[in-house]
Amino acid sequence: MINVVCPHCLHINRVPIKDTYKKALCGHCKGDLLDTTPKDVDNSAFFRHIQSNDIPVVVDFWAQWCGPCRMMAPAFKAAAARFALKARFIKVNTEENQSAAAQFAIRGIPTIIVFKGAQEVERVSGALPEEQIIRLVDSHIG
Ligand SMILES: [Zn+2]
Repeated sequence: MINVVCPHCLHINRVPIKDTYKKALCGHCKGDLLDTTPKDVDNSAFFRHIQSNDIPVVVDFWAQWCGPCRMMAPAFKAAAARFALKARFIKVNTEENQSAAAQFAIRGIPTIIVFKGAQEVERVSGALPEEQIIRLVDSHIG
């Protein structure tokens, strides 16, 4: 069993490890744990995700004014769809959540950081295409 933070209500769910999942609902809000849409999170949700998920958490640090960030958003979302309950993709708006951005010394955006067990395991700055995001995340699974 692994701990997975509900992307909707942040409740921690115990989920069996499977190769693929047909259905997984949050025990608290009944929201879909297989929902891969990268959500914009605030500081407390950001720390909840990186500290309480047993699956890798892939964070896109971005801002509204940043053209390359907006350009990468569809690729980030498409890559996320490949990793239902294998990795959690979230987004941190660096203008609205400056303490998270400051704590991890985000200098340029977009920056993608992969967290495992609350530890930063990889960081890539600059917009990446979908295939490269998939490869990056794949290398931290299993
Ligand atoms: Zn929930």
